[in-house]
Amino acid sequence: MLNKKTIDDINVSGLRVLCRCDFNVPLDNGVITDDTRIVSSLPTIKKLIADGGKVILCSHLGKPKGSVVPELSLAPVAKRLSELLGTEVKFADDDNVVGENAKRIVSELKDGEVCLLQNVRFRPEETKNDDTFSKELASLCDVFVNDAFGTAHRAHCSTAGVCQFVKHSAIGYLMEQELNYLGSVVNNPKRPLVSILGGAKVSSKISVISNLLEKVDKLIIGGGMMFTFIKAMGGNVGKSIVEEEYIDYSKDMIYKAGALGVQLFFPVDVVVTKEFSNDAEYRVVKATEIADDEMGMDIGPKTRELFANALEGAGTVIWNGPMGVFEFCNFAKGTIAVAEAMGNLKDAVTVVGGGDSAAAVNQLGYADKFSHISTGGGASLEFLEGKELPGVKAVEYKD
Ligand code: ADP
Ligand code: MG
Repeated sequence: MLNKKTIDDINVSGLRVLCRCDFNVPLDNGVITDDTRIVSSLPTIKKLIADGGKVILCSHLGKPKGSVVPELSLAPVAKRLSELLGTEVKFADDDNVVGENAKRIVSELKDGEVCLLQNVRFRPEETKNDDTFSKELASLCDVFVNDAFGTAHRAHCSTAGVCQFVKHSAIGYLMEQELNYLGSVVNNPKRPLVSILGGAKVSSKISVISNLLEKVDKLIIGGGMMFTFIKAMGGNVGKSIVEEEYIDYSKDMIYKAGALGVQLFFPVDVVVTKEFSNDAEYRVVKATEIADDEMGMDIGPKTRELFANALEGAGTVIWNGPMGVFEFCNFAKGTIAVAEAMGNLKDAVTVVGGGDSAAAVNQLGYADKFSHISTGGGASLEFLEGKELPGVKAVEYKD
């Protein structure tokens, strides 16, 4: 159970509250092209306003790498937030984030008023979790609230460091919702619990595979990582992406699954090409019989059916990683089939984590058919690995 303080556990009336949000929105020439992340932050911000806090918002945007990049100013976010909240959000445009302007605006805030600081990653100290900047942020507020799930796996000044220098800290509603959802599906799932893993590499998902094997009833493996497993089982994978150095690890995982009584599902057929391109000619072959000059780009039609059948009757499904090179429409069929099969499950709790898989589900228009799509790619992965997220760890425990 989540034992960290939430914004329901503290009274912020009349207090200065610094709230770390995830306003890392896509921009096109200074125009916000998708405001989902801003909208997702509204419940927490509205609650802090309603409770009479003096609300100071902060976030990063893009990767300015510790210097001032005018195109990555949060000014457009302040404007959009003002529209969404129906109240002015004052923007403190100091390049050094906690500057004279910011200090003045904060000191003049009345209860229930809101301001936004400049992009915290304009400061080189931010990603180094350097105490100097953490202390500056802390000096602006009485209470710190972290609602940025998407960056909770990073120990930065505005996500973790600042907690050391404030009297009180708590998590916001978005963070609470993500942690509760992901926590309950991993630790107390409706069974059978089925996990589908895909994506490019075994190496980037080692701890996920290992941790999930201890919890799931069935594990389905597709995507680029399948070829290392297929090779480990003696198949021919041609030019497909293989990580030779993880073949032994893959064998261990197959053994571990057997020992734990976890049912494993691997592709039986794959779509192959001679070139890594959407226009390349393709054909379907047995998963273990890929020619030397061919590479696997997606799971094949028999596998799509096999996986859909394996999902049938699931109580909970956790999906991470696309089944093929879904960015090329010719090789998106496997990923679409899984999204469709999951979306059509009647009584299952269905969760997607992982940046590319969540993007795939959104692009394919299946978002509303899932129980939960995590807003944090890296953070949800680390959570599934069983790691404690620094941005959560730093927050005060409940009394
Ligand atoms: P997520 O972000 O959901 O955790 P990953 O980042 O691990 O997923 O993997 C996504 C990437 O894996 C996509 O860019 C996709 O093109 C790639 N991928 C999937 N299948 C293959 C394959 N057969 N060969 C090469 N790349 C693949
Ligand atoms: Mg990814």
